[in-house]
Amino acid sequence: MSAPIRVDEYVVARAPAKINLHLGVGAVREDGFHELATVFCALSLSDEVIANAAHGLSVSTSGEGADEVPDDERNLAWRAAAALAERAGVSADVELSINKQIPVAAGLAGGSADAAATLIACDALWQTGAAKADLIEIAAELGSDVAFSLTGGLALGTGRGELLSPVLAAGKWHWVLAVARGGLSTAQVYAELDRLREGQEEIPLLTPDRLMNALRARDLDLLGENLHNDMEPAAYSLMPELRRTRRAGLQEGAVAAVMCGSGPTFAFLTEDEESAIDLAAAISALDVARTVRTATGPVTGARIVA
Ligand code: ATP
Repeated sequence: MSAPIRVDEYVVARAPAKINLHLGVGAVREDGFHELATVFCALSLSDEVIANAAHGLSVSTSGEGADEVPDDERNLAWRAAAALAERAGVSADVELSINKQIPVAAGLAGGSADAAATLIACDALWQTGAAKADLIEIAAELGSDVAFSLTGGLALGTGRGELLSPVLAAGKWHWVLAVARGGLSTAQVYAELDRLREGQEEIPLLTPDRLMNALRARDLDLLGENLHNDMEPAAYSLMPELRRTRRAGLQEGAVAAVMCGSGPTFAFLTEDEESAIDLAAAISALDVARTVRTATGPVTGARIVA
């Protein structure tokens, strides 16, 4: 007979969404992945995962977009719990409740945040005693964004984006996130980028040197000038109406705009908290986005909150 469950045993963890301040996409490698040079920034927008002691593994999701998230082994949080249990040699006994604040399928790595929060919550619940390096290794196998959500802050991602090195820069920036309506799959946007680049002999990998200088100097205008995403032309080609969302934010006073990952969200850089609140209200009134949020970043990575 299995041991009785203590219903009071649970751990609550939170993990942040990310935006890419720079996303340079190089040529396709022999393994089929594109060579990337990206700068990740963790945001104050986060999902919460409650890991309850249970027999067997289950996932349920509540909050914005919950009905678009699978509650089975396709859920990245489920896969994170299963991977940690296997690595630690324990049985995957946990009931995971995900409370989503991060818009789903928006290029903000919400699924990856849930996986990162699950890793630290289950590590604490099962007392596996895994070292941070072990958790980062498991995270990297689940996806490059999962490893970043664990560590948070600002990081340079190279390779497929999975080779992370921290970027040391003080300061916090104020952002408005506008999630345009409609969906874009990451694979679709990469395929369109390849199509647009057909016949191009050399595909240089754009590195974020000037952006790094702006971050270190804490220079708002320089940061704005150097936000960059190579995926934008491909996303516009598939969804021309995205330009409207971008234009709206800039016309309403954003310092600069950059698309998040493969879209369809734009991150707008603003001068301060008040400008961010005003800009969010103005974009909402124009009805060019399904969701508009304010956030600050960089912030720390996944953490236990209870
Ligand atoms: P990516 O760029 O990694 O494809 P994203 O950051 O644009 O993802 P996510 O919110 O992570 O967006 O969701 C992408 C897809 O992953 C969703 O359509 C959903 O079906 C699936 N998914 C699996 N697990 C989760 C989860 N825990 N939360 C959100 N989506 C999840």
